[in-house]
Amino acid sequence: LSSVHRITSGQVVIDLPTAVKELVENSLDAHATSIEIRFKQYGLESIEVSDNGDGIPEEDMEGIALKHYTSKLQTFSDLETIESYGFRGEALSSLCAVCSSVRITTCTEASKPRATRLEYDAIGKITSKARIAGTKGTTVTLTKIFEGRLPVRRLDLVKNCKREFAKCVSLLQAYGIIKLGVKIIVSNTLTSGKRNKLFSTNGNSSVDRNIINIFGAKQISNLQPLSLEFEISRKSLYSRSKASNSSSIQVKGFISNPTPGNGRSSPDRQLVYVNNRPCLSPAVSKCFNECYRQFNPTQYPFFVADICVDRASVDINVTPDKRTVLLHDEVLLIESLRDELLACLSESIS
Ligand code: ADP
Ligand code: MG
Repeated sequence: LSSVHRITSGQVVIDLPTAVKELVENSLDAHATSIEIRFKQYGLESIEVSDNGDGIPEEDMEGIALKHYTSKLQTFSDLETIESYGFRGEALSSLCAVCSSVRITTCTEASKPRATRLEYDAIGKITSKARIAGTKGTTVTLTKIFEGRLPVRRLDLVKNCKREFAKCVSLLQAYGIIKLGVKIIVSNTLTSGKRNKLFSTNGNSSVDRNIINIFGAKQISNLQPLSLEFEISRKSLYSRSKASNSSSIQVKGFISNPTPGNGRSSPDRQLVYVNNRPCLSPAVSKCFNECYRQFNPTQYPFFVADICVDRASVDINVTPDKRTVLLHDEVLLIESLRDELLACLSESIS
């Protein structure tokens, strides 16, 4: 394994949550309606993601873990319309480079009930291939992430494994809430053999059902549905014409009701999405907190906010983890969001 490949792979799979995210997104891309994520010892021993998706056809097995192999982009112009999470073909190859072992068991509709169990080496070549019985779907097992390959990062992970594990769980909750019709089950088994179930959703058809599955019914009783719609007019710096065009923004989700001094919300239960993708947007979170705290200064809100903008207005690929989203005209957007949110909250309190 060349050290360059190892280092660049370490930049794609930067930490435990990124590894988990890539595997879950692959399952979603494969149209899974049930995804089970099993951690062993907080992910230090292994992470296993099982889905009931399309499976991997025989002809793709050789290639999938090689660098830049993707089955999701056929032409360059697909890049503009891509609906799938993955398209760079870097996740599996990077995982092979940074994990002690990567094992994939997969079965398609056509090969059912015969599955194939594959093992890949550090450069993504198949080292073993066996036929076994199976059902449609794919299971990817990663063992001992970073061990031997990126020793400093491994030490870091061992030291902070509970914190990193908690980040994984939050991320999985974010998918669990927004993905309708997909059942997500998360568990952790300790070296003692004790298995803890973290949460599971039911393939519900609504976000509030998912919130109940994940956070409990108490949480939802204080929630108010959120549905905001506004226009922002953009004056593009790059546009040659003087004309400014406007784009319409929708914000859908839930926010806790501002019950002065009596809320029970914690600042970590705040989920931001852009066009259905979990993401990090400090500006949006700050806006929600500031608005809510005008009515309830002692608490932070629980909220789920999916910001729907037209595809041309977002750039989701600014960081390798694809979580940080760049929004065009973010300042304008936040300004309008603040007005709408304040109006909505003051209405609900009066
Ligand atoms: P990308 O998602 O960008 O295409 P990845 O490295 O994540 O790249 O995956 C490589 C390929 O492996 C995918 O394009 C897909 O064909 C296949 N693949 C990976 N995981 C799964 C899965 N859970 N189910 C079906 N196919 C999968
Ligand atoms: Mg992928």
